Amino acid sequence: MLEIIKELEGATSWNAMRKELGNLLGLDTPVSSAVLRRAREDDKFASYLMMSRNSIETLNLFLNTPKNKEYEISATGIEHTNLDLAKRATKAIFDWGKSGFQKVDQETFDTRFSNCEQCEYLKEAPDKLAYQVTLVRKSSNKICSACGCTASKKAWLATESCPVEDPLHAGYNLWEQPISS
Ligand code: SF4
Repeated sequence: MLEIIKELEGATSWNAMRKELGNLLGLDTPVSSAVLRRAREDDKFASYLMMSRNSIETLNLFLNTPKNKEYEISATGIEHTNLDLAKRATKAIFDWGKSGFQKVDQETFDTRFSNCEQCEYLKEAPDKLAYQVTLVRKSSNKICSACGCTASKKAWLATESCPVEDPLHAGYNLWEQPISS
């Protein structure tokens, strides 16, 4: 692994590392998981990224090259059907109800949601029935495209967990929490 990429390894989470690599490249957004994974595994690619730091056109070529797709982490780009979305969003609420509507504390919510806000799975909510039913406020209506839930709501629910494993920490998800078996 390239020395400069190795220096990022102390990041607290995968999403934090994406952000740090973005900063290193002079971007104001995190790099995609695919770019980070490739930079960690492919020294030549990492070198090209570093050499392109001062040329946004060249950098964009490397950031968007189709080969990066081979390095995407699990669940990237999953397209849920309307039925999936309806089932997933309502199941989360149903499970929460069964638990007695338990919410996490503010600190846990902040950790969870700050990771969601940096996460590439966070997308604009589609104009689909499931979301018209479950959304209360419009202000943070982005959904987790890996599970279909509204992230700002999901992060409060004690019964919910992030569905994506952190590639940096086996056994932990992108909320930095152990994945229950
Ligand atoms: S729940 Fe996990 S995968 Fe979904 S947006 Fe949040 S951090 Fe990303």
